[in-house]
Amino acid sequence: MPEALPLLPGAPSPHDGTRAVTLGVLGGGQLGRMFVHAAQALGFRTVVLDPDPASPAGLVAHQHLCAAYDDAQALDALARSCDAVTTEFENVPAQSLSRLASSVPVSPSGEAVAVCQHRALEKAHFARSGVPCVPWALIQTDADLASIDETLLPGILKTATLGYDGKGQVRVERLPDLGAAWAALKRVPCVLERRVALQRELSVVIARDRAGRCVHLPLQQNLHRDGILAVTEVPAPDLPDAVAAQALDAAEAVAATLDYVGVLCVEFFLLQDGTLCANEMAPRPHNSGHHSIDACDLSQFDLQVRALTGLPLLPPRLHSPALMLNLLGDLWFAAGGAAPRTPCWDRVAGLPGAHLHLYGKVEPRRGRKMGHLTLTGASAASARALAAEAALLLGISPF
Ligand code: ADP
Ligand code: MG
Repeated sequence: MPEALPLLPGAPSPHDGTRAVTLGVLGGGQLGRMFVHAAQALGFRTVVLDPDPASPAGLVAHQHLCAAYDDAQALDALARSCDAVTTEFENVPAQSLSRLASSVPVSPSGEAVAVCQHRALEKAHFARSGVPCVPWALIQTDADLASIDETLLPGILKTATLGYDGKGQVRVERLPDLGAAWAALKRVPCVLERRVALQRELSVVIARDRAGRCVHLPLQQNLHRDGILAVTEVPAPDLPDAVAAQALDAAEAVAATLDYVGVLCVEFFLLQDGTLCANEMAPRPHNSGHHSIDACDLSQFDLQVRALTGLPLLPPRLHSPALMLNLLGDLWFAAGGAAPRTPCWDRVAGLPGAHLHLYGKVEPRRGRKMGHLTLTGASAASARALAAEAALLLGISPF
């Protein structure tokens, strides 16, 4: 597909002069919604493809194609109505991205997304990029199960595909328990990872353009609870420069070996002994980068728009230290209450430096990401104190 880049916001489409330049996104979740917000702020038209009539991004885009991700007619309609297409979620069928790519520029590519969809391909890719990860093995057959090295235990068994927010994972203490754990995951292809002692978790959001130039957000420090991101803190407190440099180099290497175009997040474990290991990667903006909307002069969604349209990538500058708190559906249920109630947003709005983002999801459910709250401060200490105050108001556990 010949690419008429850069695409300029508000300009007539190079493919269809009857409309303005239009950007498409596969997936209508909160990441798509924030991409749409960033694209619209610049003046681009937007189209979302998502099967859910009430999807967070579909509700705010200029146009919502309400259809399955593998619906050929809908994909062709998306290609016709857009000048470039990106994705907000990694489980879009790779064939759908390839189909789109035959008639419209698509980034990231279907090949890159396919690597991120499968934990074994992802880990093999880390190795190819010279980036270590924790010891692991692929389990697809009884023979694989029988040949597992017991040094991988205690471990975590994870489905190779479709896991997120800690779903599709079982902790396994001893080798004899492994068969039952695999049965509990319906014997789908899995990876077994050694459970490692974490000093902390970090992530890097980078954006890479077609010429291979990279920029990145400041390194994030992340706290997970029950496998779900709970808190992100930027800058990562007291992080040795050498570790930060190692994580940035690793993220760039991972992107370069994929010839990646777009925004990519690599999550890392910093082990107790100081070793840095890659955990997983996402071919899109990431929950741990949401602070950038309020704390940086360019957000991860601005970078996604720029990478997609060929506008210049500039290194985002963190103008305020920040903490981001995820707002899970649990907050809508007061201690054991069955009927949901609205959290005290009026009190949150009274905190200077609090930036509330709700995703427009109608039904709160426990564990469901309903929104996030970013707390910015003039100093890291004041951002932290403000976040502690917000957590107390909302009933989020202290961190
Ligand atoms: P998901 O795709 O659901 O985010 P992850 O593999 O990132 O799954 O795991 C979620 C969280 O579980 C991690 O952020 C980390 O806190 C913990 N975790 C995952 N794998 C390991 C491991 N091998 N050792 C220790 N903790 C782990
Ligand atoms: Mg993860």
